[in-house]
Amino acid sequence: MSLVAEIAALKAERKAIILAHNYTVGEVQDIADFTGDSLELSRKAAECHAPVIVFCGVRFMAETAKILSPEAIVLHPAPDAGCPMADMADPADVRAWRDAHPGALIVAYVNTTAATKTAVDICCTSGNAERVIASIPPDREIMFLPDANLGANISKKLGRKMHLWPGCCPTHNAIAPERIAAARAAHPGAVVIIHPECPPATVDAADEALSTGGMLKFARESKATSFIVATEEGILHRLRKENPDKEFYPLAPSPRCPNMKKLSLENIRDSLRDLSPQVELDAETIRLARAPIDRMLAL
Ligand code: SF4
Repeated sequence: MSLVAEIAALKAERKAIILAHNYTVGEVQDIADFTGDSLELSRKAAECHAPVIVFCGVRFMAETAKILSPEAIVLHPAPDAGCPMADMADPADVRAWRDAHPGALIVAYVNTTAATKTAVDICCTSGNAERVIASIPPDREIMFLPDANLGANISKKLGRKMHLWPGCCPTHNAIAPERIAAARAAHPGAVVIIHPECPPATVDAADEALSTGGMLKFARESKATSFIVATEEGILHRLRKENPDKEFYPLAPSPRCPNMKKLSLENIRDSLRDLSPQVELDAETIRLARAPIDRMLAL
């Protein structure tokens, strides 16, 4: 039996749903019931009511699925797939930061651990960050963590000052403006779509700053037929699959998140077969971490 057939049989037996992030490898995306960005996957985890969720993404995303569906068994087939940016904001340090800014509101990018989410006020994703920031009264001081690039890009776009935590995504932070210029020279006329985790100077060199979900919508609706894609290369799989008549070019070298690539058909099959490794969070962490996520989803 092929691996894909094995996964399908185990999935049916376990009554499981497979959720995959847009940055996972193509063959993982192809066997998922739903593929999306962090916001879309959070919503799906909250509403799916499946007894078993196989989460194909990095650890904080699997934790978010557990927080939103605590009664479900949440499997994370690659338990060593963490997010270096999420690990840059330790909850004790965040609490100390809050103490230094009494009265300020902490907005946390969803790329934070469950433990850190217990220390913040509201979450956001790259897909809704502007909406979340815009919903906060103008006279309220804002602290934004852990991605200083995303924070600076939103701050500039909305003209809203924020205190920024000094974190970043190593994969996106390494994308310098020169790489955008080189891609434009190689593909004249292509529209440059970029993820807002990139540094502000690089975002300024592109045409549209979008979450991966936003990129898919933009590519589908745009009259343009060629695009330079300045984000992790996994998104190219869906962009090409859903728009076979359009051209999508990665940057050179192509940005790659090593952690997202740890999800494989083999570890998904093993995880469904063994019902392991499961995401385990205590009830108090789930209760406290859920509040900022619920505030985000209610907007
Ligand atoms: S692409 Fe960056 S932010 Fe996303 S999981 Fe990888 S390291 Fe974390």
